Amino acid sequence: MLVHLSLGSNTGDREGLLQLALRALNARNSVRVVSVSSIYETEPVGYQQQPDFLNLAAAVETGLAPLELLDVIQGIESQLGRETTVRWGPRVIDIDIVLWDGLELESARLTIPHRSFRERAFVLEPLREIAGDAVDPVTGLSIAELAARPTVQGWVRPHRPAPDAGSFV
Ligand code: ATP
Ligand code: CA
Ligand code: CA
Repeated sequence: MLVHLSLGSNTGDREGLLQLALRALNARNSVRVVSVSSIYETEPVGYQQQPDFLNLAAAVETGLAPLELLDVIQGIESQLGRETTVRWGPRVIDIDIVLWDGLELESARLTIPHRSFRERAFVLEPLREIAGDAVDPVTGLSIAELAARPTVQGWVRPHRPAPDAGSFV
């Protein structure tokens, strides 16, 4: 199944942490990173008194079930040193599942598509680069259409071009 992820970091070596997270994902037999957007610098949303983020979007091909991929993601987050802090607060790495093909899922641990991605420029802009035509099953709108809506929040600016295909393998 083709799954779209949003990755972000705003403490420490932000770029290195994004790179390590992609590499850790790709190191799983059951997960293959198939495309990665460029890196964007973005404004913290929700809680302003913290450093700016670096964000990117990635597409992965996986045979895992949604909750299994969430377990993998949370394992990588803690492996990279994420501690449980305030929601929306500073973090070394955050990996969210944005879209899972056309799936809609609502459970205690996992909501797909991600609950808040339609309002977040830091998710939509990177994702538009690699999956502008992907459709949100809830609204029926494409990523490009969602990104163009006036309700999208936060500034984003390009930081660095997409990494080489080989660099996260
Ligand atoms: P937000 O979810 O608003 O972006 P956050 O990423 O800071 O906030 P976290 O503390 O990383 O929030 O995650 C809180 C919980 O959200 C996780 O423990 C996980 O169970 C749940 N969750 C629900 N839907 C998703 C999803 N689509 N991707 C990742 N986690 C999810
Ligand atoms: Ca998040
Ligand atoms: Ca998260």
